[in-house]
Amino acid sequence: MIQQKAASRRVLIVAVVLAGIVITVGFGLARRVDLVSTDQGEQWLEDEHRYLIAQIDLLEIQWEQALEEAADFELEASKRERGEAAREVLGLRQVSYFGKRGEAHELVEFPLQGPAPLEPSLLSGELVLTNEEVFSSHNPIWIDDAGRPLMYRKADAHGSAVVFILNKKIARGVVLGELKSLMRTVPRVVPAGGLLEFSGDSGKVWLSRGDADCKSRPADETLRHYSRFGEWPIRYWRPRKEVVSYEASVLGGMSLVALLILVGGYWADREQARALKLAAQRVSFVNSVSHEFRTPLTNILLTTELAQEDSREPKAERRLALILDEGRRLSRMVDNVLSYARAERGKLQLGQVREVKLAEFLESCLQQFEILFARKGITCELDVSGDERVEIEVDFLSQIVLNLLSNIEKYAGDGAVAKVEAVAGKTLRITVSDNGVGIPAELKFRIFDAFERGGDSVTSTSSGTGLGLAISRELARSMGGDLQLKNSTNGAVFLLEIPLF
Ligand code: ADP
Repeated sequence: MIQQKAASRRVLIVAVVLAGIVITVGFGLARRVDLVSTDQGEQWLEDEHRYLIAQIDLLEIQWEQALEEAADFELEASKRERGEAAREVLGLRQVSYFGKRGEAHELVEFPLQGPAPLEPSLLSGELVLTNEEVFSSHNPIWIDDAGRPLMYRKADAHGSAVVFILNKKIARGVVLGELKSLMRTVPRVVPAGGLLEFSGDSGKVWLSRGDADCKSRPADETLRHYSRFGEWPIRYWRPRKEVVSYEASVLGGMSLVALLILVGGYWADREQARALKLAAQRVSFVNSVSHEFRTPLTNILLTTELAQEDSREPKAERRLALILDEGRRLSRMVDNVLSYARAERGKLQLGQVREVKLAEFLESCLQQFEILFARKGITCELDVSGDERVEIEVDFLSQIVLNLLSNIEKYAGDGAVAKVEAVAGKTLRITVSDNGVGIPAELKFRIFDAFERGGDSVTSTSSGTGLGLAISRELARSMGGDLQLKNSTNGAVFLLEIPLF
């Protein structure tokens, strides 16, 4: 196609689309999803913890009171009554009694709560208590070290002492039971989506409130309390929600890239528009100049033809013939340039369809080349068959045929033999062939491109614009037909086909 449709705005559209893609990708890259805690004030948690501590402390105090009362009773009790009060106290497994008899102490041990074997015993020496631990003061003391059972000791003013060996687990079990029922309503306010857990020192959970899914992540808060009964941790998982944020630096960077693409696109679009405008101005200039050439050229040709008819002088006649040939060559060139300019502007329109006698028409075309062909020793045969008359856009047809004949004159070479065969039926078929150098197969399609001249050897040896074939094909197509270069091993063969009405 000669006419190059302006790719108007295409660059800008591509730039806008690209910028859009960059921005979209930018948003994707900059997007961050964070799990943010929705519960920041944990006053309620502290309150729950304090409540738990208070309950445990209370139970511990009660336990200590019970132990002290039992110890006082044991210190006072007669042999027969021993162990009676102690039996009532939680977790108390064994009583060791240091009675004062003269200077020496008598150690009596007796187990409590069932026939279980004695806890590590003072008597058998499994447990060793120092004098200080047993008799240091009257006040009750706790002996709570690693490697020894928990012990509670109380002495009296007379030098007697009682040591309770306690089992923490049993005491703790009972405390846990108490706490469970006490804290059944606790916590009163675990926020939705959060989780609160009370567990023992073994890690076993004894109270859990809230969303169990939270346990897939570590707890946000761990509050601990230590008492005689062991460790009492509370774990809390805050409720979380997804918060989407965008990283400003990534977004900024990508926006900058998008902006650059847009600016670049806008600039390229403007440049393209300018280039297109310039091209259009050139075409318009070429068009008007060619147009201006045409009228004087037609007048010159007509006047020359008249002068030739009037002339009796053979020398003058030859000169006039030369003027006529060159004038026609110029006229063909102007016609081609004009058609090119029209095609570029999309204004190549069919002129008037006229009826012509085909043989006469082709003969008159050939006649224009009579002298030119003769000068180069080129012979051209005309063979017309089929309908005598055809209705056709004569100006277009003659422009095509004259271009093909002109090419024979220019490229077929001296002494070439050419042939024009025309068959008119439903379609007009005109084959223009010669036995000259021909056209290489690789140029078969390119040869119809505007300004394509078939290589350097052609450019340097003959004049031309490279528009003839391009325009001829364009004209043929505008008539609903086509012009093709046929495969040939001998010279160039062009086939022009035009449907007839
Ligand atoms: P121009 O004649 O101005 O160069 P055309 O479009 O008419 O432009 O032809 C394009 C090219 O095709 C020519 O330059 C030439 O190389 C080749 N050509 C056309 N006709 C013939 C032919 N009959 N024999 C050999 N080469 C040809």
